[in-house]
Order: sequence, then structure tokens, then C-alpha cells
Amino acid sequence: MTNIERHSYDVVVIGAGGAGLRAAIEARLAGKKTAIISKSLFGKAHTVMAEGGAAAAMGNVNPNDNWMVHFRDTMRGGKFLNNFRMAELHAKEAPDRIWELETYGALFDRTKTGKISQRNFGGHEYPRLAHVGDRTGLELIRTLQQKIVSLQQEDYREFGDYDAKIRVFAETTITELFIEDGRVAGCFGYYRESGDFVLFDAPAIVLATGGVGKSYKVTSNSWEYTGDGHALALRAGATLINMEFLQFHPTGMVWPPSVKGILVTESVRGDGGVLKNTKGERFMFNYVPDVFRKQYAETPEEADRWYEDPDNNRRPPELLPRDEVARAINSEVKEGRGTPAGGVLLDIASRLPAEQVRKRLPSMYHQFKELADVDITKQPMEVGPTCHYVMGGVEVDADTAQAHVEGLFAAGEVSGGMHGSNRLGGNSLSDLLVFGKRAGEYAAKFADAHPRKKVSAATVEAAVETALAPLNRGESGENPYTLHSELQQVMGDLVGIIRRQGELEQSLGRLMELKERAKKVGVGGGRRYNPGWHLALDLRNMLIVSECTAKAALQREESRGGHTREDFPGMNPQWRLVNLVCSLEGEDIALTRQPVPTMRPELLGLFDYSELAKYMTPEELSGLDKDGA
Ligand code: FAD
Repeated sequence: MTNIERHSYDVVVIGAGGAGLRAAIEARLAGKKTAIISKSLFGKAHTVMAEGGAAAAMGNVNPNDNWMVHFRDTMRGGKFLNNFRMAELHAKEAPDRIWELETYGALFDRTKTGKISQRNFGGHEYPRLAHVGDRTGLELIRTLQQKIVSLQQEDYREFGDYDAKIRVFAETTITELFIEDGRVAGCFGYYRESGDFVLFDAPAIVLATGGVGKSYKVTSNSWEYTGDGHALALRAGATLINMEFLQFHPTGMVWPPSVKGILVTESVRGDGGVLKNTKGERFMFNYVPDVFRKQYAETPEEADRWYEDPDNNRRPPELLPRDEVARAINSEVKEGRGTPAGGVLLDIASRLPAEQVRKRLPSMYHQFKELADVDITKQPMEVGPTCHYVMGGVEVDADTAQAHVEGLFAAGEVSGGMHGSNRLGGNSLSDLLVFGKRAGEYAAKFADAHPRKKVSAATVEAAVETALAPLNRGESGENPYTLHSELQQVMGDLVGIIRRQGELEQSLGRLMELKERAKKVGVGGGRRYNPGWHLALDLRNMLIVSECTAKAALQREESRGGHTREDFPGMNPQWRLVNLVCSLEGEDIALTRQPVPTMRPELLGLFDYSELAKYMTPEELSGLDKDGA
């Protein structure tokens, strides 16, 4: 019998990024014995990489801002496919979550009058992103970790044990959730360093595992974004929604090849940076879609005036939502106006004095200097789209963050619905604070109300067997690195930024073939720190999540947000009514269509009828009042 370390907790949080830490704090504050599990080192989650800031309508820089404007911007950015209740809660609660971070010790940049400073970002009507230079995520993680340490110190005073009520299990990967009688019973995984197995029994689990970017070759995401939480949820019987919507951030580095995909923050454009093609044209003016035409400047002069006088001028088109900018760059390159490496030029050097660039964008300055030998105070940056964020994710109840399995909760990037078909920059950091807190709160309530379930010996044995299978096959099995690289090629080439029916069908054929080969994946060596083994286990997650994306992308016959079909250009109002929901049937992904929840009348009333008319079906519009939707 394999040796397994066993622990018992009230709430287990899988993931130690912003969502996981905020959830864990809330569960511990509710008195629950809480575990935080993290595949990477503690502190090294994606959240730490977030640069631009956290969106919250505090109105510090422009007093006209409020939750209703933020709600409107979020719905517009998501092309009205968002779960409206999530967007509402997010817009209402984000300012409190930011203030609360200051009570935990965060120090945001200030305005001249000492308020939390807020910067412009694509799709946000007013300056809204609370930030710390371009290192906001670092401050967020540092602060949440500090709060956890302070709670552990309280526990030490009371119980003589720092880990009595909240303990971090770093470099620990969860590979299975245990469900007994339809309810969460615990989870299972391994310590990355020793390869030893560990089991947690718990009545409530919060998934906070982030995204899926590592299924793509060009991505801003790091190694741990392999869709584990999405796959764990599916295998547990939960559902994923709208997995066709992936955000390709318009500005990733394109040169040198070794750093291709690394993010160039949107703050560069928020602070005045402009995009040019190799002919020197500021091309974004040619790509303003009709739905946004009223809000964006028509000339460079008007766009430039906006930075000084936003109340009397319209915003520059460089600040359109990300999906629009990414497609525009893609078209410029395709039409031969890109650089030889396949990018366009992002110029901040001619727009801000050198010391301002270094002060406002210190990470970008160092990133380009060290990785590309480019001085961004003197030269333009070469940029192109990179796979960045998944809007789809675990289907949850908006208020409680509970998935369709009792005791299973999800928050942060792993959850779906909040951002509709496209996320606005800055809305992720605020999302993970708002829904991280809610997930922790409701997981704690669930644990209070439900006795723990016993994990059966048979399920544990099955989990061990699955985990050991690649090692048992040894080097004669399929190589996990080869399979991973083929998967990335399939997803990048056939399910990328612009999609076509034939290619999507081809991708599904390739994915099925890879899935079969992945059943025979094998690795040499033992359990002690063995990255090949880790990748072999991650592969099955990436494969089922990629299948969800490809199947949903094939089924959605329209272009909306982070899903562009060359054969179905433009939004189709009938498709706005549809959420595509993935579930696991046997080994395959089944897709069903479910109605998008209908917005409450008082929220609909926040939009002009003329705007709703761009998105809604005639039947929906017939019930609305033209003078005040
Ligand atoms: P993460 O912070 O990624 O945390 C996921 C955690 O789950 C990690 O601890 C990981 O180790 C763990 N994990 C994963 N799988 C397992 C497993 N199987 N077992 C155990 N643990 C597991 N958003 C903004 O709003 N503003 C920005 O300025 C911004 N800038 C960004 C810049 C970059 C370069 C990137 C990549 C993203 C940026 N984003 C930004 C997006 C934002 O950072 C992420 O969407 C957000 O941080 C996700 O937070 P999370 O808590 O959901 O997941």
C-alpha cells in the first residue's frame, strides 16, 4: 500500500494567487481550519505578475465614476454575454475590497491630494485602475500574504501553533477531487519535491487555480497555467461555461524568440503609448467598430487632447477593449505592414519624457532592456498578440461562487461568467478580490452546515494508480514534452485568434489523436522532483480543457469578444442569448446550450436603448422602453 500523508480541514483552497489567498483569509476569519495549496512556490502565482492595476470605481481621479459606470463598461467589454449579477456585484464591491487591502498594509500610488491614484485602461470610461507603478500584483500578493502571516501569529498566541487554523502547502499539486454521494469529500495530490502523496479531507473546497494559457505556444502565462482547476471541476461533475472565449492580449513581446509572448502591459497605452505599423501609421483609427464609434476619437489630435481633457474629448482608439486591438494588430501584420518578427511598434519614447517612462513603467523599462536590449525611453517596442486570459471557466452561482457540485466553489480566473466574451484590463484583480472573498465566506458557511464525508478507499487507490501510471510505463511510453508541444501547435494554429470551421474540425481530430496518445504517456526516473512526470499529469488537464475550447469554438457561429470566426464575422444577437456549457460524459466533452440570464430591468435601464439595440434580438427589444431602456 502506497504511503499517503493525510490531513483534515474544514476548507481547502487550491491555488495561492489573489483569489485563493483572499478566499482563505475569509474562511479563516469565519473560524474555519483552512489549508492553502499551491502548485508553485508560495507567492509565485500569476497574480504577482499583474502589472497595470485593479479596476474599482472609487472616483478618486474623476468624480463622475461610480459602480454603475463600471458595470456598464464591463458589460460592454464582455459584449453583453456577462453574467450580469457577477458584473453587478463586482462593480459594487470592488472599491471596498481595494480599501480593505490598505487596512491589510497595501500602499497604492497616490493622487496629488493623497487619494489612491487611478489610471486609464482600455474599455474603462474613467481612470479606474488602482495601481502601484506597474507592479500592482506584487503588492496585492505581498499584502494578502502579510495578512495570512498576521492571522497565523494570532493563532500562535491562542493555540501555540502558527499552523493551527491556516496552513500553506507550497509546491503541492492537486490531481484529483474526491466526491462522495454528489458532495465534496476531499482532494489528493503530490509534493513536487519529494513526489510523496498527500490527501486532504474537507467538506468544502475552493478552486482558485487560474487559467489555461499553457495549451498555447505564444502566451503570457507561466508553467502552472495548465487548466488544472477547470479539469478537476469537470471530472468532479461540475460544468464549464463559454470556454471558446480566450483573450489574446494585443501586446506581448515578439522579439527575441526566447521571450515571445511575455506581456507588455496595457498601462503603456493607458499612459499615452501609441501603436504604429512599419509605414509609421497610427493604424488603430481604422479599426474602431460601429458599436464603439461614439466613444472613441476620430483623429490623432482629438485622441491626444483626451489625455489632458477627458471630459471634452473622446478616448484614443489604442484604448479599445483588448479583443479589438489584438484583431487590428493581427490584420496589420497579415497585410504586410508588420515587422519581420510578426509584430507592430508600440511607441512611448516620443510621447513621455524618459524619466516619466522609467517612473511610471519601471518593469517594462527593465524587461525590454534586459530581455531585448531595447531602451524604451528611446526606441519603440515590438509587440504582437499573446494568449493571456480565459474568460470561460467553472460555472458558478454569482452570489455564493458555488459550482454545480455541493461543497465545490470557484473564484478568480478559473471561474466563468463574470467577463462575458472579453475581460477588461484591471477587472481580473478586482474580480479575484470580490469573488475570492465570497467563495471563502460561502465555503465556510457550507462547512458549518454539512458534516464531512468519508473518502472511500477505492477512490484513493484509483487516484494513486492514475498518478503513478506514467512512471510505471517508463520511457517507452509517449514523451510528454512532445505531446505538449504538439498540443500547443494545434491550439495556436487551429484554435487561435482567428478561427475557421474547417480548421476547428481538424483541431478536434488532432485533439482526439493526442488524447489517445496521452493515455500511453510515460516518463523515466522516480517520484523525486521529476518535471516530466508533472507534465505528464498536467497533460490530461490541458487536453480536456482544449477539447472544450475547440468544441465550443466550432459550435458558436458568430464573432464576439475573444472568439473570432472568419466564416461568421460580426455578432449575432441570437447567439448573445446562449451560454455554451461543457460537461464530461465518460471521457468526452458534451456541449449544451443554456440561456444567458436576463438582466434585471433597473440594470437594463442603465443603458441607452440605442446601445442595447446593437446587441439584442428584436424580441428582447420589443419589451423595452425606447426613451429609457
Ligand atoms: P493565480 O494568481 O494564477 O493563482 C493560481 C494558483 O493556483 C497558483 O498558486 C498556482 O500554483 C495554483 N495552482 C494551479 N493549479 C494547481 C494545482 N493543480 N494544485 C495546486 N495549486 C494549483 N489582471 C488585472 O486585473 N490587472 C493587471 O494588470 C493584470 N496584469 C497581468 C499581467 C500578466 C503578465 C499576466 C499573466 C496576467 C495579468 N492579469 C492582470 C491577469 C491576472 O493577473 C490573473 O488573471 C489573476 O492574477 C489570476 O488570479 P488567480 O488568483 O485566479 O490565479
